[in-house]
Amino acid sequence: MAMTAKQAQAKAVKEFGPPAAGSFWLERYVPNYKGRCEVCGQAPTVDGTLYGVTVVSTGMCGPCTWGEAACLDPGVWNDPVE
Ligand SMILES: [Zn+2]
Repeated sequence: MAMTAKQAQAKAVKEFGPPAAGSFWLERYVPNYKGRCEVCGQAPTVDGTLYGVTVVSTGMCGPCTWGEAACLDPGVWNDPVE
């Protein structure tokens, strides 16, 4: 049975400890091709997953989420920030 976002968070807290204040655990960012950015109308929008469960949907495209034009490409969403 698939976990809910809440169950995924609870599992991560057990495994990694509590997240930073005002934050939550997230494993990777994935493109959501069903959504359109609520700011500029572009697709895909940015979802965040944990244990394969979507735990956050930003409702915004990469550039609107991170403020970088290069973030239009989902291939860079999980690159470490330098
Ligand atoms: Zn946008």
